[in-house]
Amino acid sequence: MKITLKHLFTKKVTIQYPDENFPLPETARNRLFMEMTKCIGCKNCAKICPVNCIDIETIKVSPEDPHKELHRNGKERKLWVPTFEIDFAKCCYCGLCTEVCPTDAIIHTKEFEYSEYNRENLVYKFHTLTPEQTEEKRRLLEELDAKKEKEKKQDENKPGNKETPGEKRE
Ligand code: SF4
Ligand code: SF4
Repeated sequence: MKITLKHLFTKKVTIQYPDENFPLPETARNRLFMEMTKCIGCKNCAKICPVNCIDIETIKVSPEDPHKELHRNGKERKLWVPTFEIDFAKCCYCGLCTEVCPTDAIIHTKEFEYSEYNRENLVYKFHTLTPEQTEEKRRLLEELDAKKEKEKKQDENKPGNKETPGEKRE
């Protein structure tokens, strides 16, 4: 009875979640957010992730690409990032990816209420290129590689550049 009476007059600590929320500390690590315009495709985040939950694909920007893009620092984009996915069913919120990102493209937010019935819905796709745009970037790069290969062969076949049997070029 003494204990009950004591608690009748002490301040309540229980909060009525979800109507009320406990204030999160500034350094709270919850769901990640990606700002694709800042991402340079370096893959540092994917390499350091201890659970391999970041999937990134990059394509080199062809000099022939008509759609050049500038990063926020004014430098030209060198890599397209057609795939950038994070599987939040695996993420352990260690924060390593945010530490190694050179452009602060990947950050923690305060969002922690995002449970799903279907695990596949926890794979977030942050990339912004459409499949058609990705295909175009791939094609441009293939064309560039083919052109380079052709030029190399032509160069090798030029008189004076050809190796005669038994002769070794310096
Ligand atoms: S917070 Fe940790 S586990 Fe989650 S994506 Fe980043 S590196 Fe991987
Ligand atoms: S570390 Fe940052 S810039 Fe590099 S791929 Fe990851 S999000 Fe993009």
